[in-house]
Amino acid sequence: TATARPKPEWLKVPLPVGPVYARVSGLVRELGLHTVCQEARCPNVAECWGHGTATFMILGWVCTRACKFCAVATGNPRGAVDAGEPQRVATAVRELDLEYVVLTSVDRDDLPDGGAAHFARTVRAIKEAAPSTRVEALTPDFRGDRAAVALVVDSGLDVFAHNLETVRRLTPRVRDPRATYDQSLEVLAFGKRHRPEVLTKSSLMLGLGETDGEIREAMRDLRAAGVDILTLGQYLRPSKSHLSVERYVTPAEFLRYRDWGYEEGFVEVFSGPLVRSSYRADRVFEEAKAG
Ligand code: SF4
Ligand code: SF4
Repeated sequence: TATARPKPEWLKVPLPVGPVYARVSGLVRELGLHTVCQEARCPNVAECWGHGTATFMILGWVCTRACKFCAVATGNPRGAVDAGEPQRVATAVRELDLEYVVLTSVDRDDLPDGGAAHFARTVRAIKEAAPSTRVEALTPDFRGDRAAVALVVDSGLDVFAHNLETVRRLTPRVRDPRATYDQSLEVLAFGKRHRPEVLTKSSLMLGLGETDGEIREAMRDLRAAGVDILTLGQYLRPSKSHLSVERYVTPAEFLRYRDWGYEEGFVEVFSGPLVRSSYRADRVFEEAKAG
């Protein structure tokens, strides 16, 4: 069965060590912040942090949704928002001289604006503290609320990202029922229409049972929504109670999908077994700007 499938060699990477790791993790802890890089034990930490890129998780650790691929705890944070967080994130970014910051959050369906104002405040605090730092917001779907999307897209950020996660057919099986395929496309399309100069970005996990035709269809749908940047990575099961891996996509297949992405017209495509939506986001951004 899929459960017994051993992890291929290309997914094994060494654990991060060294002075950069110690410095970043020390300051993050001191300021009471959280990075996805650490909490998700991301295999790319050494590479990303070494290039001045990090992903901060804002708005807490309890999600109002329960996607079947995700290890984050489900619950109701009852409107709790840490009002000092935007400033502390900005302090960390300045102290660490980060060149590229990704902000992301759990889904906060308990907040009237889904947390959009908190995203916007954090972007503005970073831009004030470190004007040359590029900022990407990887947001929830805000239940399709356009005013919430506009708040984020108008905040002065460089990249607006929202993940489609998987192909149309598998969406109900993979994502929380409140997250629909078309709603995600609409959020991306609205963000692009609202502020065309902001780059838009989305991500698909592969290995959940999608077919090649379905991958191609998702690429077309994302392009029709005006998405500029696409990342493709291997789905890895966080625990035995999550969806199982249906296949390990080989590095050669990832290269083929990358070519398809360029054929479909994306400005930039990052595709590989360990690619995460924020993987080397600095380089993705620079190449997309240049391209
Ligand atoms: Fe995880 Fe995001 Fe789904 Fe919440 S909405 S369960 S954080 S993937
Ligand atoms: Fe952090 Fe994203 Fe890089 Fe992983 S891929 S280390 S989560 S910035």
